[in-house]
Amino acid sequence: MIFYDTHAHYDDGRFDSDRETLLPELYRQGIGLINTIGTDIPSSRASIALAEQYPFIYAVVGGWPGNVGDMTEQDLEEYRTMASHEKVVAIGEIGLDYYYDDVPREIQKHWFDRQMALAAELSMPVVVHDRDAHGDCMDMVRKWAGQVKGVFHCFSGSAEMAVELTKLGWYVSFTGVVTFKNARRALEAVAAVSTDRIMIETDAPYLAPVPYRGRRNHSGYVPEVAKKIAEIKGLSLEEVARITTENGKRFFRISE
Ligand SMILES: [Zn+2]
Repeated sequence: MIFYDTHAHYDDGRFDSDRETLLPELYRQGIGLINTIGTDIPSSRASIALAEQYPFIYAVVGGWPGNVGDMTEQDLEEYRTMASHEKVVAIGEIGLDYYYDDVPREIQKHWFDRQMALAAELSMPVVVHDRDAHGDCMDMVRKWAGQVKGVFHCFSGSAEMAVELTKLGWYVSFTGVVTFKNARRALEAVAAVSTDRIMIETDAPYLAPVPYRGRRNHSGYVPEVAKKIAEIKGLSLEEVARITTENGKRFFRISE
């Protein structure tokens, strides 16, 4: 059984002590593909370096909404250059975060829009971070409909929103949050969308699933997310592993 963890942050300092042993071990355990996600220029560079080091790791480059407060057009140029690397599969994570609200909303929207334009120009998919900003994120998706397709990572919207996204050709991705006690909303979204539009992820080192909640997360826990989806969809774990891996490979255009 092979799993694809489509969203993790292996440049994070919490992996400094064991990254070199952990990543090959995860691969041996059946985590056949991993995306490591940039959140600013240095972490995007670090993500590419990891993708160069490990054949089963791919990189996503972009400015996360909490980090765009001082982003410049020169940074956008740098993401454009990075995106031409053969192991870079998407622009992200980009989007809006109205939960922390660290960066003025107009600035977040501006750089979300500029990075959507970059993805459109490069014909690349995007990885979207949406925290408490569903309405404005959907406006952005509709603005670029037909030009940009993407995935909402750690999907936290309604079932209706999930269905609308999939109708527009987008995907939704779920984390260990689906294993939490208060997961009703995320579970409704899982139930509402077609299985061929679902991806799974850890968002490691954050959001470790039950029964590992509170610990440092890593891709070895992604089967817990798949188990919950299998339960809701009435599928076997093997089927969910296979389908979500196929979905991720199709979406990120990975042929191996
Ligand atoms: Zn993330």
